[in-house]
Amino acid sequence: MSKYIFVTGGVVSSVGKGVTVASIGTLLKSRQITVSVQKLDPYLNVDPGTMSPYQHGEVFVTQDGAETDLDLGNYERFIDVNLTTESNVTSGQIYSAVIAKERRGDFLGGTIQVVPHVTAEIKQRFTSLAEQSQADVVIIEVGGTVGDIEGQPFLEAIRQMRKDVGRDNVLYIHVTLLPYLATTQELKTKPTQHSVNELRRTGIQPDIIICRSDHPISEGIRDKISLFCDVDRQAVIPLPTVPTIYEVPLVLEEEGLGQLVVDKLGLEVHEADLSQWQELVASLKEEHEPVNIVLVGKYVELKDAYYSVREALHHAALYHGRDINLDWIQSETLEGDGDETLLRSAQGIVVPGGFGIRGIEGMIRAASYARNNKIPYLGLCLGMHVMVIEFARYILNSPEPNSTEFDASTRYPVIDLLPSQRGIENKGGTMRLGNYPCKLVDASRAAAAYGQSLVYERHRHRLEFNNKFRAQLQEAGMIYSGLSPDGELVELCELADHPWMVSCQFHPEFSSRPGRPHPLFRDLIGVAKDVLREGAQPSLPLST
Ligand code: GLN
Repeated sequence: MSKYIFVTGGVVSSVGKGVTVASIGTLLKSRQITVSVQKLDPYLNVDPGTMSPYQHGEVFVTQDGAETDLDLGNYERFIDVNLTTESNVTSGQIYSAVIAKERRGDFLGGTIQVVPHVTAEIKQRFTSLAEQSQADVVIIEVGGTVGDIEGQPFLEAIRQMRKDVGRDNVLYIHVTLLPYLATTQELKTKPTQHSVNELRRTGIQPDIIICRSDHPISEGIRDKISLFCDVDRQAVIPLPTVPTIYEVPLVLEEEGLGQLVVDKLGLEVHEADLSQWQELVASLKEEHEPVNIVLVGKYVELKDAYYSVREALHHAALYHGRDINLDWIQSETLEGDGDETLLRSAQGIVVPGGFGIRGIEGMIRAASYARNNKIPYLGLCLGMHVMVIEFARYILNSPEPNSTEFDASTRYPVIDLLPSQRGIENKGGTMRLGNYPCKLVDASRAAAAYGQSLVYERHRHRLEFNNKFRAQLQEAGMIYSGLSPDGELVELCELADHPWMVSCQFHPEFSSRPGRPHPLFRDLIGVAKDVLREGAQPSLPLST
């Protein structure tokens, strides 16, 4: 039977609870304990797929096509598992399921209530993941902060679990923030005390408190939290901010968290082996020559909107013994008489995914710059649409080619709605989602990157390359380097007359891992790192 770790957050959001949960998973996995993870999101959306990335950052896509919270990306990267739709539960899903059951008559005669019906539905998601994954430990993160109105049913459900599955099979970990007061130069514990009190009001006494802070945490502070929050002293775990998130598992291990969890849950374990993480972090901390990558996107004000893209770039740079110097350019700034010199520092350009017309012309300009100046370019989903539109405008010598997403009446709809999308009216969860196969075409840059003839990649789109333009663009030098096995769908394309301008219809960023970069990101950086240095960019003034 699986054991459960429930992780709650106190004081403020965005303290790194997701990374902490992912790191706990790493510590358990390093002891050969099998782990699965679930994120509970208290909002009423059924999934985050219809939300703007400005709300909660990137929408992460699992292999089986669930649109999920970005924390799942960190769980996958840290624990090296491929999660499924069962790993993200929202209040919206829970209430829809309960109401559907009520309408069907499953509870005939009953009054449907938060306790026990909603909480039972929530608990069923815990046990179902445990059964499906057969993991030794299921780690469940409660999104939001203790005290939020929407989070109450989740807290009540996790409280009930201790009684349901037995005291020794459940552990509660509370992650809080210790704010720093500059005037008195001290860390304050009061907000943590209050949030633990709030947690106790629902009947949960935390077993472990992890204290996030931007400053070192003294022994005195640990004693104080231990006393006021009634937690063993060694169970007050300091987690000061570290330069790279990949260091968090090592800091927590150093503070004894791995052993503590194992002891409290009575798990049989092997010696922890974190050597791979130690090597990774040592190499991340070394100074490396940077590669300048410019990311041209429309949501760049919120870096979390491109979380997995940024991580995938770092994984790839690390592979080549380099750092990434990542410049974020708001694509709208490249529009009209916008300043193209912003792109001059680029050794490589990435145009990531996105929806809607805002900023598209700026992205097209970036693609044009990459093509003309032979700068390595990686287009991700929307970034592929942009590359195709730009190339079509160039070869047809017309500003008209477009995607029907942005111009429904264009004479040259080089990107158009997938036939399977026609007639779909509901926006939630209806895109082409998750893993689909892609056959690589020999002697292409993409095939060289993968070194395989068939790959599966994660998708999230409604539009695709319009086959009516295939021959015309091919004659002008576009290579279709990856196709769906029936040959109908362009999954990868690249330009013949360019060192490395490659785009994909899917999202390779979701499957990149530290120590195992995605082949497309790896090769982008492989080519980009030699731009400028070897004079491969003669049209650019080297002084800028
Ligand atoms: N908006 C485009 C589509 O729906 C691209 C989507 C994306 O970049 N994920 O196909």
